[in-house]
Amino acid sequence: MIDPFGRTVSYLRVSVTDRCDFRCVYCMAEDMSFLPKADLLTLEELERLCAAFIRLGVNKLRLTGGEPLVRRGVMGLIGRLGARLGQGLEELTLTTNGSQLAAHVAGLKAAGVKRINVSLDTLDERKFTAITRWGRLPQVLEGLEAAQAAGVRVKINMVALKGVNDDEFSAMLAWCGARGFDLCLIETMPMGEVAHREETHLPLDGVRRALARDWGLSASAHATGGPARYWDVAETGTRIGFITPLSSHFCDDCNRVRLTCTGTLYMCLGQADAADLRAPLRGSADDAALEQAVRAAIARKPKGHAFDISRPAVARHMSVTGG
Ligand code: SAM
Ligand code: SF4
Repeated sequence: MIDPFGRTVSYLRVSVTDRCDFRCVYCMAEDMSFLPKADLLTLEELERLCAAFIRLGVNKLRLTGGEPLVRRGVMGLIGRLGARLGQGLEELTLTTNGSQLAAHVAGLKAAGVKRINVSLDTLDERKFTAITRWGRLPQVLEGLEAAQAAGVRVKINMVALKGVNDDEFSAMLAWCGARGFDLCLIETMPMGEVAHREETHLPLDGVRRALARDWGLSASAHATGGPARYWDVAETGTRIGFITPLSSHFCDDCNRVRLTCTGTLYMCLGQADAADLRAPLRGSADDAALEQAVRAAIARKPKGHAFDISRPAVARHMSVTGG
């Protein structure tokens, strides 16, 4: 599938639920209201949609959320999607907050998941509770140990928050390096209304320059087809990536679209335009109309986002489209 700007769309991110067992301050409001369960696609419907995307040329799938591992039955879906690896699908991955990882990492590995992204913004238990509101750090650390023991590669996603965790980047890099985890720092993005976003926004260019004073960073050839720009870390043999949607755009190479758990397809994280795939999915058992709806959506993929941290670019929170 090629979009109007000549970019090949080969990566689908699927938010399997908008619910979560955490309430991270930059992601959700304290009093989030979630979708009625009746509005959700079934796991079978999500699988049928994923299969249609794979037939159309998607070779990488990432499950996300909300917290993907809190959706009941999700491991069955992951197993069935994993069975498609090598048959059009080349990679199946997951972004998780890690809270349920210890229980599920063996199942993930068995399904063919080789690497996962785990969100961890701090190693300080008190700060962790302040950021996630409902999370418990030891539970996440236990999940990470289980992933390491199982041989599933881990990349840590750390959202950079001014005045909150900006004294921890170097320590986090050392901690990740000691475990063989790559680290990716992320600028906060203006998705949905949350308190204090503007005050805590931290442009990452200065962070990279400061880290380069203590660490041997050299521009890495590593590229995941994603928005992060990577640097090799000489001391650890791992990498550090920077996702800078505000301080520098990454839309020119965008290869992805995002499906929500209700069957809405967002062609850009930072734009409101969306395509409803639930109606064609439910309208016919034949996939021709569904595939046509996907192609029509890709033909509308916009050139990029225009984030401004002082106001939400879109009303939906990150947990709807999964980051
Ligand atoms: N619950 C899972 C997790 O936390 O990894 C998956 C979904 S979460 C929405 C995906 C990623 O988006 C996480 O790394 C999270 O830190 C990041 N995120 C959430 N809201 C964000 C925002 N407003 N700006 C930047 N990143 C955000
Ligand atoms: Fe949940 Fe992930 Fe959002 Fe945190 S960032 S509230 S863990 S969906």
